[in-house]
Amino acid sequence: MFLLFQYLQNFSELLYPKLCGGCGNHLYENEEVVCVYCRASLPLSGECDFENNASEKLFWGKVSITAAASFLFFQKKSSTQHLLHQLKYQQKENIGEWLGEQFAYSLQSKGRFAAVEIIIPIPLHPSRIKFRGYNQCDAIARGMASVLLIPIVNGVLIRSVATQSQTKKNRFQRFENMESVFSLAQTSAIKGKNILLLDDVLTTGATLVSAAQVLQQAGSNKLFVGAIAKA
Ligand SMILES: [Zn+2]
Repeated sequence: MFLLFQYLQNFSELLYPKLCGGCGNHLYENEEVVCVYCRASLPLSGECDFENNASEKLFWGKVSITAAASFLFFQKKSSTQHLLHQLKYQQKENIGEWLGEQFAYSLQSKGRFAAVEIIIPIPLHPSRIKFRGYNQCDAIARGMASVLLIPIVNGVLIRSVATQSQTKKNRFQRFENMESVFSLAQTSAIKGKNILLLDDVLTTGATLVSAAQVLQQAGSNKLFVGAIAKA
């Protein structure tokens, strides 16, 4: 039976070879999602271990954050961009889960995020979920939750306004664009909680600041911020 399973598996890999999410090369049998080379060359930011890092500085003077970290540096045409692009636009949710796991291991190393009790992925507007079918941040959150062994809280933080894409806006417009975008469906799930707010890419921090303000006004306790990549 096992041999038959092995045979079928090999056969299906012949037809649909597993490819590395970073470089597109074929994966070896013992490799999952990302090849050994891409894994070793991830542009780690090191921010999980250090306070006053570049991601934390984005929030200074805007919202009170206990700790923030981006897992990787985002470089154009890099494996990080390739990974995030496939996660966001090509239904490769397993890439998000894998990135979430790696990020979580990194967060655990110095204990700066040890107080986190729940993960809240930044929600998409329902119209975008309908279009894309999933929220890429949910996949990242699942990977993190499986390592940190804490729950994901979905459906409480709501994106009530569909914003235009941020990519062509300047810094000021980005913050303006994000004002009153989020609301809460209820407050009991977040009251007094230490929350990790999670996004895929951190650029100006406008989205996360806006979401953090809503949570704080509703009585959350400590707020932590995490992103897979810092642009
Ligand atoms: Zn690779």
